[in-house]
Amino acid sequence: MNAAHPSLTDGTVVTNPFPVENGQLVVGGMPLERLAARVGSTPFFAYDRGIIAAHVRGLRALLPADVDLHYAMKANPMPALVQTMVGLVQGLDLASAGEMKVALDAGADPAEMSFAGPGKRPIELWQAVASGVTINLESPRELEALVAAGKALGVKPRVAVRVNPDFELKASGMKMAGGPKQFGVDAETVPELLREIGRLPIEFRGFHVYSGSQNLKAEAICDAQRKTLELAVRLAESAPSPVRMLNLGGGFGVPYFPGDQSLDVRPVADNLRAIAADARVRLPEARLMVELGRYLVAHGGIYVTRIVDRKISRGQVFLVTDGGLNHHLAASGNFGQVIRKNYPVVIGNRADAPAEEEASVVGPLCTPLDLLGDRLQLPKADVGDYVCVMLSGAYGYTSSPLQFLSHPHPVEVLV
Ligand SMILES: *Cc1c(COP(=O)(O)O)cnc(C)c1O
Repeated sequence: MNAAHPSLTDGTVVTNPFPVENGQLVVGGMPLERLAARVGSTPFFAYDRGIIAAHVRGLRALLPADVDLHYAMKANPMPALVQTMVGLVQGLDLASAGEMKVALDAGADPAEMSFAGPGKRPIELWQAVASGVTINLESPRELEALVAAGKALGVKPRVAVRVNPDFELKASGMKMAGGPKQFGVDAETVPELLREIGRLPIEFRGFHVYSGSQNLKAEAICDAQRKTLELAVRLAESAPSPVRMLNLGGGFGVPYFPGDQSLDVRPVADNLRAIAADARVRLPEARLMVELGRYLVAHGGIYVTRIVDRKISRGQVFLVTDGGLNHHLAASGNFGQVIRKNYPVVIGNRADAPAEEEASVVGPLCTPLDLLGDRLQLPKADVGDYVCVMLSGAYGYTSSPLQFLSHPHPVEVLV
């Protein structure tokens, strides 16, 4: 059923890829009320493996064959989902030893995994060396623990240098490079670090440049990718051995908010094709890759809550749901957003009903921040109806303050 939806297979993110049957949103082939019965309680997160697989395959087909697609697990580290992703992408990007465990349990090949993130502890570096993943060096300080681990374990640690470039990813929701940053090693000090690596019993793999997240402008992403190749070529002159991998970063954004234009991935794919052709000449031994989190999984997931009260306060309708920012911080607008905007919301058991009234969706927490939707246009909904927050497959469960107010944690299902 999902495969027939053309926009699911062309690599583009759509706000609501779920079919509707008899007024019900259909997730993983199951009408919402039936799915809720199967799960047993609300709130829950549901991820649709068919939608995610069709989308990732569509994107994969669009990207040049010689650019690997990696999944950045921090967007959604649910073990069953990661296992699904392992069959769809060429590698995984990890940000902790905890994610590394999930990745290894899922059967991912450590040779296709890289571990980035500031403040890796010696024990995490030790575990990473033992498992054979590539460690993206964020600080010269990490070298000491890596060398010690390599000696003790009798293996050569595989290391790439995460570079904090001298440019930034323009128009990004979150900038993670350029200027002073806690991420990576400043480009101007990388040559010195490379000389140091050359003196140590370490296998140098290449470079990782991650300039930012949540970008909807193809030209900004292309620009950063081109500059990344130039930077890598320049730094390669100081490298102790040929560059074997160049991680060009990601940053592909999701159109969460009203007025957002979906990222057009075709020019990005074309740009990658040109970069790959250039790299074949200038860094002939390098494998190229991009690492994406939200872009791969966001639209395949929803957060499902149930209305427990319908209140009218001085003329304004409030739908009070059984979950809120404790489960889905990002949808409440408190996960790094500068201005609060509404995620798309659907009344999941009235999904084909027209909008009839203005209503705000609020969670059960005693804070005005617990707002899932501010003055939305919705069909008339009442106690027992299902409020679904769309685009919730990334940075939902995993990035929320689940303990706040001591409510039960939501269930996660992959359908
Ligand atoms: C967070 C992060 C990602 C994933 O970001 P998305 O916006 O989910 O695509 C990828 N790489 C690194 C290094 C990150 O920190």
